[in-house]
Amino acid sequence: MTRVNVRFSLLFLPLACACLAQGQSTKPAGVSVRAAQAQPGQVQPVAPGTLAAPRIPRLILDPAIPEVQKVEYLGNGHIEVAGAVLTLMPGDYPRARALAGYVARRVLAAREQLDEVDVSVYDKPSYGGFGGPLPLLTASVPRERLNDFLEWSAGRGSFDRVWLSSKPGAAPARPPDRVRELSVNFLGSLADKTADAVRHTTAKVLGGVQGGLLYRGNGKSALSALTFDDAPHPMYEPLLLDLLRRDGVHATFFVIGRNARAYPYFVSDMAAQGHEVGNHTYHHVRLPPLPVAVATQEMVRASQVIQGITGKPVRYFRPPGGDYTPATLKAAEGLGLTTVFWTDDPGDFQNPGTDVLIERYTRTLRRGGIVLLHDNAPEMLQALPELLRVAEDRNIDLNTVGMLVGQPQALGRPETGRSVPGQATPQRTPALVPAELRVSPRP
Ligand SMILES: [Zn+2]
Repeated sequence: MTRVNVRFSLLFLPLACACLAQGQSTKPAGVSVRAAQAQPGQVQPVAPGTLAAPRIPRLILDPAIPEVQKVEYLGNGHIEVAGAVLTLMPGDYPRARALAGYVARRVLAAREQLDEVDVSVYDKPSYGGFGGPLPLLTASVPRERLNDFLEWSAGRGSFDRVWLSSKPGAAPARPPDRVRELSVNFLGSLADKTADAVRHTTAKVLGGVQGGLLYRGNGKSALSALTFDDAPHPMYEPLLLDLLRRDGVHATFFVIGRNARAYPYFVSDMAAQGHEVGNHTYHHVRLPPLPVAVATQEMVRASQVIQGITGKPVRYFRPPGGDYTPATLKAAEGLGLTTVFWTDDPGDFQNPGTDVLIERYTRTLRRGGIVLLHDNAPEMLQALPELLRVAEDRNIDLNTVGMLVGQPQALGRPETGRSVPGQATPQRTPALVPAELRVSPRP
């Protein structure tokens, strides 16, 4: 595996004009950006009050490939990963596999520092960004496995790090909410709020799971839980998992069910590398406004997707936006899910700057705490090595929620994900290929 020795910060500096994203914000730091600019799960900024995100470099292919909407790339100081987005008209669906192979080859050829390219092919008429309708096809292609992927894209052999939609072009049943976890919000009657205040205080004072809620662990513990919301993301996930693996740190990922469905190999990687996978609803929606049956279904579908990938029961749930009601709390308990909040939120999704992020985290990190981060916040990725070092200096063992409450996760399927980029894994993707996506010989 080629390792790049690029200083991480350099990847965020403005590059030559030809490599910059078109239409990116040119607002100076400190200027608020409208919340409606991005969908949940997309590159930040997302939430109200967010500052301008660091610029993500784009790779320009020459000659251009008409179906390629963008190719972004990021590094974590050790490896580089590119994310390529393609759109196809319905009549071109048969070209999806061959085109994905062609694009993967061109991207890896265009930048020799890249260790991996992740390809997402969407239906062009319904394309709505990362939070819009699901892709037709996704693939994670480590450089050393390019030939395997090219064989698969040509209709020969198999490739495990790929996903094909069973309903190409289908729109999502429910659009995701533009929401980030900023504060815990309980919604209910005055009596409900009084009861919740007691539960809340008890959980904070005593620590551990209280009445189906977890606010913090035991303060005498040497552990603090590290949690990442809104996973998985096709460019950030391999970079984040790589950093955690290098430091031997395990975390809990609260994944969005629909995104886990489209990128199952990253969820397999999480489980295989000893991380815990939690439930963050299927569509990433605020639950309180929904009928209880619909809210419950959001939890059920996400747990089904996760367990279908990892083979492990899902035990922890984090409501989008931190919003919950007595009904959602009860529904989660009925599904065997503990509702998990947090003690330390450095606000990575607001792009406050890595120095501010590190300062906030350093100030609030505590034994028995629960740290809230988001897997697709660029500044989180940039600051993470320092965040891990601060915990180590304080002899705080960052670990999963399950470990924090003394419930190590159950054994599931044998480990099948990769421990390093490029390691082969067994076939996990359904072998059935929808007629629309059957291979075509030409890209
Ligand atoms: Zn979220």
